[in-house]
Amino acid sequence: MSKHLLLDLSFDICEKLFAKLKLKNFIVKQVFHWIYQKNIYDFNKMTNISLNNQKIIKQNFAIILAKIIDINIDKKHKTFKFLVQFHDKNSIEMVVMKFGYGWTICLSSQVGCSMQCKFCASGMKIKKRDLTPGEFVMQYLLAKKYIFDQFHERITNIVIMGIGEPFDNFTNLVEALKIITNPYGMAIGPNHITVSTCGICPKILQLAKLMPKINLAVSLHAPNDAIRKQLMPINNAYNLNLLLRTCKKYCHLTKKRITFEYILLENINDHKTDAIELIKKLKGINCYVNLIPYNEINECKFARSKKINIFFNTLKQNKILVKIRQERGGTINAACGQLRIKYEDDRK
Ligand code: SAH
Repeated sequence: MSKHLLLDLSFDICEKLFAKLKLKNFIVKQVFHWIYQKNIYDFNKMTNISLNNQKIIKQNFAIILAKIIDINIDKKHKTFKFLVQFHDKNSIEMVVMKFGYGWTICLSSQVGCSMQCKFCASGMKIKKRDLTPGEFVMQYLLAKKYIFDQFHERITNIVIMGIGEPFDNFTNLVEALKIITNPYGMAIGPNHITVSTCGICPKILQLAKLMPKINLAVSLHAPNDAIRKQLMPINNAYNLNLLLRTCKKYCHLTKKRITFEYILLENINDHKTDAIELIKKLKGINCYVNLIPYNEINECKFARSKKINIFFNTLKQNKILVKIRQERGGTINAACGQLRIKYEDDRK
């Protein structure tokens, strides 16, 4: 019989499996505490569990670790970009950043991405596979240890905005979020977690129903279908009207504010008329807009807009809550998928 991979298991599933093995309920709590609070992955070192119970656990469960194979550091901005390699040699990136309110980690959700947004480095590498729940969790565990060893500080916020489309890996995402938010797991409050999607409408509503306290960011990047279609093929499946209607429903269901991400690309979506059209479209939606300065990448023809401030002011004057994203890690290829592309090119 093959062993259960422990990092893939939510607390509830683990409880059921432990009960079948006649292991008492509190042992699950102990195991979770060792793994998620103490970063101990060796069952032999879980010293408050009896040798006999350790043996039963070892016979039935395994933990597959991942490793950090490269780190790029932007000291000035306290931004760390890690290349993480899994057991099958596939790699993804995660970024850890220090903000005024604490440390935030940006997790990847897939190896590569199928969404093929035209401006994004992740889509240059077609999706190889989904990440398992344990691989979501492993990213956090590796980063947590690194930041604790370096700074004696904790990572308090998670954004799922790295490589991949989280809603294209929905089941594993939800299982991972269960472990991340469980009080015996990583114990991170759902209010401290944000999932970013390119706009897969049915999944937006599914997450709203399953986990209404998780924050949602939607990559909008355009005020109309004509522009959005050029940038994001997902718009052919779920057009802007449908997406915005879904976002309204999301706000209604969750009573939360939604974040819209909008990368400003020179002469594509950065005209004043685009800002005005956007204002009209966002009317009645409880949202705030995050304007993102584009991180230029060699493989794409797009350029960073020079009109960010005009766009920002137009939105602001029209009472849209708006911010310009603080730039992090531009010097360390921290935009989505850039380090991984560089690594794979270097290996060629
Ligand atoms: N698939 C999800 C999450 C991953 S991308 C999504 O689309 O939201 C995370 C964010 O980074 C998205 O808003 C994406 O559009 C943006 N992004 C991708 N490439 C970028 C680049 N080169 N510069 C700035 N932002 C980028």
